Amino acid sequence: MSEQAAATFDGLGIDDRVRQALDDVGYETPSPIQAATIPPLMAGDDVVGLAQTGTGKTAAFAIPILSRLDASARKPQALVLAPTRELALQVSEAFGKYSAHMPDVKVLPIYGGQSYGVQLSGLRRGAQVIVGTPGRVIDHLDKGTLDISELSYLVLDEADEMLTMGFAEDVERILADTPDTKQVALFSATMPKAIGRLAKQYLKNPTEVSVESKTATAQNITQKYLQVSHQRKLDALTRVLEVETFDGMIVFVRTKQATEELAERLRARGFSAMAINGDLAQAQRERTINQLKSGSIDILVATDVAARGLDVDRISHVVNYDIPHDTESYVHRIGRTGRAGRSGTALLFVSPRERHLLRSIERATRQPLEEIDLPSVDDVNAQRKAKFADSITANLSSEHLDLFRGLVEKYARDNDVAMADIAAALALETRDGGFLMAPDPPKSERRERSERPERAPRGGGDFATYRIAVGRIHKVSPGAIVGAIANEGGLTRGDFGNISIRDDFSLVELPADLDNRTLDSLRDTRIGKHPIDIRRDQGPPRARGGGQYGRRREGGYAKRGAPKVAGRRRA
Ligand code: AMP
Repeated sequence: MSEQAAATFDGLGIDDRVRQALDDVGYETPSPIQAATIPPLMAGDDVVGLAQTGTGKTAAFAIPILSRLDASARKPQALVLAPTRELALQVSEAFGKYSAHMPDVKVLPIYGGQSYGVQLSGLRRGAQVIVGTPGRVIDHLDKGTLDISELSYLVLDEADEMLTMGFAEDVERILADTPDTKQVALFSATMPKAIGRLAKQYLKNPTEVSVESKTATAQNITQKYLQVSHQRKLDALTRVLEVETFDGMIVFVRTKQATEELAERLRARGFSAMAINGDLAQAQRERTINQLKSGSIDILVATDVAARGLDVDRISHVVNYDIPHDTESYVHRIGRTGRAGRSGTALLFVSPRERHLLRSIERATRQPLEEIDLPSVDDVNAQRKAKFADSITANLSSEHLDLFRGLVEKYARDNDVAMADIAAALALETRDGGFLMAPDPPKSERRERSERPERAPRGGGDFATYRIAVGRIHKVSPGAIVGAIANEGGLTRGDFGNISIRDDFSLVELPADLDNRTLDSLRDTRIGKHPIDIRRDQGPPRARGGGQYGRRREGGYAKRGAPKVAGRRRA
C-alpha cells in the first residue's frame, strides 16, 4: 500500500457534499485501495491500481472525480470505460450515490443494447460524468453526439477485462480523442504485459497502488465458505443460525446502516442480536459488548471499525456476511473467534462475482476454505423438531408443572379429549402453524446450493449453440466476439461457453434461455463492419454433406458457401 495511505476520510480534501454522501451510505473508513488511491488522484496524478471487484475500487476513483469536477459546467468532464453493461450500470449507480448531495451533477450510463434516444437526451442535458462500454462510446463519437475533447478525467475500469474482450483498439481510439491534459486512472485485477504497455503509453508518471495482503494463520479456527447470491444472504444466515450450535457470534457487514438493518431483521426472526458500529458512543459500545459477554445477547452485527480489538471468549463463530475488502481485514475479523485457547468457526458468504476475493484470501492465509452447502429445509426442520423436544424435556422439571397438570387433567375429563391433542393445542399457543419451514421451490434451491456445473452459464440453466455470420475470413477473434455480444446483449463472460471460429461463421455457446429482446438487439450487432446476424444453431444438416455445414432453408444465413469443417463439439 502507498505510504500516504489514509486511515480516515478526513483531511483528504474530499468535497463536503461527497463526504456527507459517504456518511449517508455508512462508510466508516476508506478501504485500503481507497486509502492509497484517493490522495494521488486528489493531487491530480495519474494512477494505476491493481484492484479487483469488491475492494471498493469504484469509490476510489469516483470520490476524487466528484470532489474535483466543475458541477456548473454542463459538458462531459469524466469518462469511465467499463467492459460490460452490467459494470457500467453499477459504476454509474455508485456515482449517483456519492453525488446524492450534488444536484447539478448528472451521471449518464451509455452502453450497447439500450436505445440511443435515452442516451442522446442525457447527453444533450449536459451530463458531466459518462460511464460507458467502449463500443457504444465509439458509436457516439462517430455520430458526433459525444464530445470528449474537453475531458478532465478518464478511468479505465477492469482494464484487463476490456482487453480480453477485444476492446484494445476501441480503448486506444477513445484515448486518442481525449486531450493530453486529462488525468487517467487505470484499474485492473491483473497486470498482463498489454496493460503495462497501455499504461506506459497513455499515463503520465502514474502512481502505482495495490492492496498488499499480509499472511497470517489461525490454526484453531475452522474456515468455511458458502456461495450465496446477495439477495439470499439473509435467508442463508437465518438457516445457518438455526442449524449451527454456537455460543456467541459476530456477523460482519460493510456499513453502519447494514449493522442496524441486519440486527433488526435478526431480532424480528427471533434471534437476540445487537448492532455495533463506529457511530456508537464508547459507553454504549461497552454496554453492548458486555451484553454479549454475559450471554444476554448472542449475536453482534458489526463493522470492522467497531469490532477492532474486540476480545470476548465466548465468540465461537464469525460470519463474514459481506466479504471484506482485503485479506488483512479478513484475518482480523476471523481472529475475533478462537480466543483463549478455544476453537472457533469462521464462515464467509461469497457471491459468484466475489469468488476471486475468496481466492486471494486463500492465497494470503495459505489455507483453503471448505465449501459448505446452504442448510436445507430438512436440516432446519430437523433442528426445529429437536429443539421442540428439548423444550418439553426442560419444562418437565419445572416446579410449576403440578398446577398445570391438574388443570389439564380436569380439561381432559370434562371434555373427553386425548392428552396428546391437549398437548398439541398448548404447543400451538407459543408456536404458530408456520413452525416448520416451507419447502424451497426446487429449481432455485438447486441453483443456490450447488457449484455451477462447469458446462452451464453463470446464472444456471443450460447452454445452447448460436451461430453468427462472422468467421475466420473476417479476422474475428474470440475476444471480439465475447466483447460485442456481451456488450449489446447485456451478458457477462460467465455466460459464454465454447466459441468455435469457422471460415465464414462462428459457433458460440450462450445461455439457452436468451429472450427475444436480447436476440433482437444482438441481431443488429456488428463486429468490425460485419453484422453478426445471430441465430440459434440448428446443427449440421442431416444431408449427404457428411456433417458439413451447408446452406439452410430457413433464414438465409450461411450464404457464403460451406466451410470445410466437419462435425462439432456438443456441450
Ligand atoms: P467495488 O469494489 O467498487 O465494487 O465495491 C465493493 C463494495 O464495497 C460496494 O458494495 C461498496 O458499496 C462497498 N464499499 C466501498 N467502499 C467502502 C467503504 N469505504 N466502506 C464500506 N463499504 C465500502
